[in-house]
Amino acid sequence: MAIMETIDLIALRNYSRETSQPTHPELLDARPIEHVNKIEIDEEHVTITFDEHTTRYYNANEITHREWVYKYNDDPAFVKAVRGVIEQARRHLKDLPENVACPPGCAECCSGYEPFVTKADVQRIADHLGMSFDAVLREYVVERPSADGYHLGWLRKVSDDVADQCVFLKGSRSGHYYCGIYAARPNDCRDFSPIGCEDVDDSLPRKSAFKIGPPFAPKHRKARRNGKRL
Ligand code: SF4
Ligand code: SF4
Repeated sequence: MAIMETIDLIALRNYSRETSQPTHPELLDARPIEHVNKIEIDEEHVTITFDEHTTRYYNANEITHREWVYKYNDDPAFVKAVRGVIEQARRHLKDLPENVACPPGCAECCSGYEPFVTKADVQRIADHLGMSFDAVLREYVVERPSADGYHLGWLRKVSDDVADQCVFLKGSRSGHYYCGIYAARPNDCRDFSPIGCEDVDDSLPRKSAFKIGPPFAPKHRKARRNGKRL
């Protein structure tokens, strides 16, 4: 978990005039510093770059980067204060990402993203569902072949809304979701890492008994079960 800390700039305040930083304490940049990306120390400055604010959209995050820059002087109190800031920033550099594993039943990513599929993915899903390659392509894939021919398109959503759920997602609500074709899911889904995932549904308990329901069944099979002819 990222630690929220406030930089103690009290010692720095006394030196602000010489270092051309703001002279009023309330103008000093003493906000919490976290998500540190980089620490640069040269002969005159220490510069800490961090993510100030993250806005989450369904398939991308907009991050405001900020730099915290202080100019050195060689006064021991100033040096001590700057060292404190550097040490704090280093601790944040070593922080684990906030999310290292998916809470059971979370599937925010299965609603926000369109996993690309290759020929091998479509074939695996076809074998898994007992359907033909062409039928899977027609029913479950939005066809948009990539220029190199590697991807055939991406998995359909349950509606035309791109933010809707993946056609293979099962379960009634967050905390109960599961992939209906888990063993045959596309490589894109296998590769999706929960580490640092910002889409996670934080309201879900991390430890809960989670029962997976029946797997995804193609429409034609459901219809046959109900005695209908296609
Ligand atoms: S934690 Fe992230 S990667 Fe895991 S299921 Fe939730 S949204 Fe997907
Ligand atoms: S195939 Fe499964 S893992 Fe992949 S997006 Fe759909 S429901 Fe999620």
